[in-house]
Amino acid sequence: MHLGKVKEFDPEIYSLIEKEKERQMEGIELIPSENLVSQAVLEALGTVPTNKYSEGYPGKRYYSGNEFIDVIENAAIDRLKKLFNAEHANVQPLSGAPANMAAFFAFMKPGDTLMGMRLDMGGHLTHGHKVNFSGTIFNSVQYMVDKETELIDFEQIRKTALETKPKLILSGYTAYPRSIDFKQFREICDETGAIAMADIAHIAGLCCAGEHENPVPYFDVVTTTTHKTLRGPRGAAIMCKKEFSEQIDKAVFPFLQGGPHENVIAAKAVAFKEAQQPSFKQYAKQIVKNAKVLAETLMEKGNRLVSGGTDNHLMLVDVSKKGLTGKEAEAALEKSGVYCNKNTIPFDPRKPWEPSGIRLGTPVVTTRGMKESEMKEIGAIIDSVLEKHDDASIKKARERTKELCKKFQFYK
Ligand SMILES: *Cc1c(COP(=O)(O)O)cnc(C)c1O
Repeated sequence: MHLGKVKEFDPEIYSLIEKEKERQMEGIELIPSENLVSQAVLEALGTVPTNKYSEGYPGKRYYSGNEFIDVIENAAIDRLKKLFNAEHANVQPLSGAPANMAAFFAFMKPGDTLMGMRLDMGGHLTHGHKVNFSGTIFNSVQYMVDKETELIDFEQIRKTALETKPKLILSGYTAYPRSIDFKQFREICDETGAIAMADIAHIAGLCCAGEHENPVPYFDVVTTTTHKTLRGPRGAAIMCKKEFSEQIDKAVFPFLQGGPHENVIAAKAVAFKEAQQPSFKQYAKQIVKNAKVLAETLMEKGNRLVSGGTDNHLMLVDVSKKGLTGKEAEAALEKSGVYCNKNTIPFDPRKPWEPSGIRLGTPVVTTRGMKESEMKEIGAIIDSVLEKHDDASIKKARERTKELCKKFQFYK
C-alpha cells in the first residue's frame, strides 16, 4: 500500500493502519460479513472523485463539473445491471442499512406494515427490530424459522401474511445458513398483494455467480451491500423493476441522502468488473465448498450446527453443547487468532449480548486462497479451543493459526 504521506505527516495513524493490516494477515478471519478487497479496489477508493459533489444522477446533477463522474457512475450502474440481470440499479446508497431505509420509503409510509425475519432467527436489525428505525417507523410483523428444522417456514409466513396484509415482505438474511427459495416468497407476495423485497447483502456474490438463486429478475426490489461476498468497497446498491426506478431513485436522493461518494462508486465499478470475470465464479464456488468442509469437520467432532449444516458461505455453531456461551467462545477464539462473532441461534434461551452461538463464514479465507484441506485444519483448531480453552490450548491454537496464515498472505 502506498502510504508515504500518511507515514510522514501522521505516524500515529499510519502505524495503526499497518498494525490492522498485520492483524488481518496473521489471523483467520471467519466473520461472514467481511472480505478482502483487491488492490485495484483499494486504489480506486483512494482517488480524487472523493473531492466531487454530484447530488442528483448522471445527466441530472445539481452541480457542474460532473462529465467524468457521470461516466464512472453509469459504468457502475451498467455493470451491476448486467451482473444481476436487473432492469434498474442505483449505486449511491452509502451502506446496507440506508439502502434498506430508502427501499422501504420508496414503497411505504410511516405506520405501514413491514414483514421481515426476526433478528434472533437470522434477520437483520433493519428488518423490523424494535431498537431500529424499521421497527419504530413501520408496523413490524416478524416471522420465525421452524423450531424443529430451523428452516424458513413458508406455511407460517403465508398464514401471517394473509392475516396481517403487509405492504412489503422481506427475505434475505444475516445469519441464515441455508439457501432461500425466493420463488416461494414471490408467490406469497403475489397472493397477498405485498411488494417482494430481498436483501441479499450477505449472499450477493453467490447470487451473481450462480451459486445461489438470484431473485433480482423477478423481485420488485433487491438491496445489497457491496462489501460482503460481492467483495467490493464498503457500500450498497439497490436494484428494482423498471416501473419502480423513479421512486427508488427519489428515495435515495433527495429523500435520504445528499452527495454520493463517487470515489466509492468508482471502486464499486471496479469490483463489479471483477465479479464479471471467470475467476469470480471460481471464488464463489470455492466459498461454498469451503463452508461445507468446515461445517462437516465441526460436526464430525461433535459440534451442533443450526439446521445441521450450510448451503452458503456461513454457519451457526451452537456452542452451548460445549458448555460455553457465544461470548466466551468468541473471546477464546480471538486469543487463538480466529475471528468470528457471537450470534443468537433460533429460539435462543440466552440474550443477544451473551447468546448460545457463534457465526462462522468462509469469504475471507477463500479470497486468501485457502481450500478444503485448510478448512479441515481451521475446523480442528476451532474445535480444540471450544473443547479446552485453557492458556496452553489457546497458545497452541495461536501457533497453528499463525503457521497457516503465513502461507496465505494477501496484501504485499
Ligand atoms: C450487513 C447487512 C446489512 C447492513 O449493512 P451495513 O452496510 O452494515 O449497513 C443489511 N442487511 C443485511 C441482511 C445485512 O447482512
